[in-house]
Amino acid sequence: MSRYIATHAIRGANAIVQEAEELLERTLKEKGPDTAVAFPNTAYYLPFILGMTGTEISKIGELPPILEHAKKLLSPVPTDSRWLPYLGETLDCGMATLFAEEIIMALKFVTGEQPEKLPGLQLAGSTSFTSPDNGGGPNGNGYLNGPIDDIQLRSWGIQLVDGRMPGFAAIVGAAKSNEVAVKIVRELQRRSILTFLIGSSNGKSIIHQLMEEGVELGYDTFTVPFGTDTESAIYPLGFATRSALTFGGMKGGQAKEILRYNKERVFAFVLALGEVDDLKYATAAGAINFGFPVIADTVIPEILPTGVTTYEHVISMPFNEIEGADDLERAEKLVQKCIEIRGVKVTIAEVPVPVPYGSAFEGEVVRRADMRVEFGGKNSRAVEYLFMDEMDNVDDGKIELIGPDFEDVEEGGAIDLGILVKVAGRKMEKDFEPVLERQIHYFINGASGIQHIGQRDIAWIRISKGATEKGFNLKHFGDILHTRFHSDFGSIVDKVEVTIITDPDMHAEWLEKARAAFNERNVRMGAMTDESVDEFYSCTLCQSFAPDHLCVISPERLGLCGAYNWLDCKASKQINPTGPNQPIKKGTEIDAEKGYFQGVNEFVQVASHGAVQEVSMYSIMENPMTACGCFECIAMVIPEANGIMIVSREDSSMTPAGMTFSTLAGVAGGGLQTPGVMGHGKFYISSGKFILPDGGLKRVVWMSSILKEQMAEQLKAIAEREGEPDLLDKIADETICTDVEGVVKHVTEKNHPALSMPPLM
Ligand code: SF4
Ligand code: ZN
Repeated sequence: MSRYIATHAIRGANAIVQEAEELLERTLKEKGPDTAVAFPNTAYYLPFILGMTGTEISKIGELPPILEHAKKLLSPVPTDSRWLPYLGETLDCGMATLFAEEIIMALKFVTGEQPEKLPGLQLAGSTSFTSPDNGGGPNGNGYLNGPIDDIQLRSWGIQLVDGRMPGFAAIVGAAKSNEVAVKIVRELQRRSILTFLIGSSNGKSIIHQLMEEGVELGYDTFTVPFGTDTESAIYPLGFATRSALTFGGMKGGQAKEILRYNKERVFAFVLALGEVDDLKYATAAGAINFGFPVIADTVIPEILPTGVTTYEHVISMPFNEIEGADDLERAEKLVQKCIEIRGVKVTIAEVPVPVPYGSAFEGEVVRRADMRVEFGGKNSRAVEYLFMDEMDNVDDGKIELIGPDFEDVEEGGAIDLGILVKVAGRKMEKDFEPVLERQIHYFINGASGIQHIGQRDIAWIRISKGATEKGFNLKHFGDILHTRFHSDFGSIVDKVEVTIITDPDMHAEWLEKARAAFNERNVRMGAMTDESVDEFYSCTLCQSFAPDHLCVISPERLGLCGAYNWLDCKASKQINPTGPNQPIKKGTEIDAEKGYFQGVNEFVQVASHGAVQEVSMYSIMENPMTACGCFECIAMVIPEANGIMIVSREDSSMTPAGMTFSTLAGVAGGGLQTPGVMGHGKFYISSGKFILPDGGLKRVVWMSSILKEQMAEQLKAIAEREGEPDLLDKIADETICTDVEGVVKHVTEKNHPALSMPPLM
């Protein structure tokens, strides 16, 4: 144990705890003990405090005992003459530091000093934090992120579970230069490692550096800027605590278990850039308790393995001494070293394109001003079509461009594009074509500087100037698709051939062929009902964090996260025969309208470990399907209006249930059957089986407006079929009212059909 580190960490801890004490005293005096204190958009109170002590803090007056607890963990700063080199003391001081930091940040929320303001910042993605002066909209415009909200935690949860996201990095400080900052972040993004940005060094933060270089920050690009002060390190550690509570099934107060879960399951590390002061040492000591090692790019003493972290605790890699031709190469090596030290598993295939590649780039936007060329959208048409053929007819690895590349298109211009993917495989089935075709979106989007939206004949692709300068051309689409289909779907696809078409005649010819195929598929899909198949599928992917939950997926009811429909499950079973999607024989039909099947009940009993005995496939009132937490929508009964409301995950406003989506999610999730409340996938609403025994779409009295917009066409068709052409207009939404009285008034005025239906309860 290094005396140097211990001295600094202990001194830092004493100072920050004292600061927390002073701030607490002051705020108590000014605001009073009953003033509410909370982090926004989380049901986990102050998550680190909850996890470590089990205390649910909701008022300032409840903080003093926590502060006392932190003080007890402190040790006196070692003097020159007396020195006990215990790692334990340093680690305890680290814990005290984290308690103090969470108290400080919570109090700063009370006084409006959190989240931090940073003029000019625009976050990419669904930051649901609502700042006081951005008109209540999403995207904390001009604000740093603050704590990650529960919705985002859950949606990343799926990616952590299925390995798309190998871990997270907390970067503290500032890099040697802006160029190095960008390189480090790109290297992490390329590997889909979630990157948290914190703190400053000599008055500059890596957040400033990335902003200056125009790097897009936000949930969508896997880069979350928390704050330019060191105290914001509590946000990622609170996130780590909540991961253990959400996905590890731990309870508040199980400190040891939570810390161990993180050490074993969460592949995270801290990268300290620039000089390390007392508070950074103290905070690093806190992170080491979670098993997260600290790598510094400056000269500091190292702490070698003792068992708290898997490998070394503190590693020094002075930036200028890293071997490499230039700073960029040194940055790359630094990131590699971090990954080795934490043992992060990176699974993404190496895709042979001249731009960075990884799922971290999936959400990237290419703005018109940065765009070199586009395909599809307003001024041209892009079509993508995947189909199977005989083994002998597919030339694996062949990538052909028919027509000119885009070098002669004027800057910012548009041309027609066709992407044909021909596959063959012994286990390939015609039914899998749409499943594989949908992957084109994710695969192409993984390239940095390329934006892909839509599918089929409404695809819309943009290539940025930056990507073009790096040498990206149309054939690279073929390289991406060939590599990814082999690496991700190798068990059903043996051969992949890609043809890229810009030639106008060929484009017209294939557009027509593709459209005929899409039509045929639509007809097939439309004809596919729950009655037309013998087997449904299970999905137990979410059992890793909701141990008793499973989705039963039928042709007319997709998984509640929206990511898996019946065909996806069928394909997934082929790809991974012992995986989470297993066929469920329907067996004897017990009640067709409510959707009770002998085989489904038997399967559910076993797969839920006895927690669920019976499940109705279609009812919200009687034995509804359970939910894990990743649902796209929550439906809930509003007895006063004799109907149900549906709130979308994308809607952060208040609902007539008196709760927002994120609070409701706590009620609906957890793998329990709660009659009257149900999580479901968005497209279940337009299914013929949507709450069939409870009255179907005509029961819906309130619905988030975003659902009305996104599904306008389908919903209108159902309304007409049901003989209620104005139904959508009769359904209230958050722009009309957000309370029960408002709903009752609206449905009464509009003479909503639910009013004359049999009572729900
Ligand atoms: Fe989880 Fe259900 Fe989605 Fe499967 S279908 S990933 S169990 S929410
Ligand atoms: Zn889930």
